Amino acid sequence: MSTSVYERPTSQTLMGNETIKVLFVAGSGRSGTTIMARLLGELDGFVNVGEAARYLFDRHLQAKNLPCGCGQSVPQCPFWRDIVKEIPADVSDSGAALVRMRTFPWLLVRGRNAISAQYEAILAAISGVYRRVAQDTGCSVIVDSSKNPANALLVSLVPGVELHVVHVVRHPQNVVASWTKSKGYLAVHPARRVIAWWWSYNILAEALKLRAKTYRRIRYEDFVLNPAALLRQVGRDTVGQELPSSFLEGTEATVHMQHILAGNPDKFGSGKVKIGDTQTAVAGSRKLLVDLLTFPLQFRYRYLP
Ligand SMILES: [Zn+2]
Repeated sequence: MSTSVYERPTSQTLMGNETIKVLFVAGSGRSGTTIMARLLGELDGFVNVGEAARYLFDRHLQAKNLPCGCGQSVPQCPFWRDIVKEIPADVSDSGAALVRMRTFPWLLVRGRNAISAQYEAILAAISGVYRRVAQDTGCSVIVDSSKNPANALLVSLVPGVELHVVHVVRHPQNVVASWTKSKGYLAVHPARRVIAWWWSYNILAEALKLRAKTYRRIRYEDFVLNPAALLRQVGRDTVGQELPSSFLEGTEATVHMQHILAGNPDKFGSGKVKIGDTQTAVAGSRKLLVDLLTFPLQFRYRYLP
């Protein structure tokens, strides 16, 4: 990808009380969520904010001070600096307490009834961030690639926000192979932990069908073969029509710089990007272990005959 930067022009201003559509890309880490969100953010009326929902309530992530997709630190980025300043520290901490796997079933079943007055400030903070992004960019669909279904569930409870979910699934052997190798500033994790994440994120992402306006599951392997198909489907799901995707030529795309929070190092730069990678799967005894520990979901996702 080229390192030169060109910014996409913003369009008209969004009215303050319009419903904001959040297109949440859910799934296990290293499943291709970053590139998928970059392409979705190129659609007309869409803006990709990276892992914004996760960033707001993750103090560890904030402390890492990872640069935005524009290359600047978040407190210095012209897109984010004023927005993140408005999130009080206590709201960020109480949000972190709510975004946990163990609170997921409780929130899923009870919905807004599970939100006591003390948590209203969290929903207001999420609403404020998305609304500000929509107003600043003139976009009516915000692409958030936070991955974690618990974040998506919280977003679904925000008044004035309509949640759409794209759940991306990738073969667990490739996910394990990716996590167990170093990549830029990303940490390496052992296979057993990655497999636990793969299970939990995929199962909980499926549960989002109960709370999302639309839910679409796609395999990463199918997406890289035909990315245009997903873009057409997402257009129909979110705005009721297929949108032009002239930035896409087969499995190559031309992308603008995007103000992406968190995410992997592939988020930087602009210009031509190849969709898909040459990641090899795990081999030998580890391959057997991964298959043994994941075969029921592999069968569900058609990775097994
Ligand atoms: Zn930025």
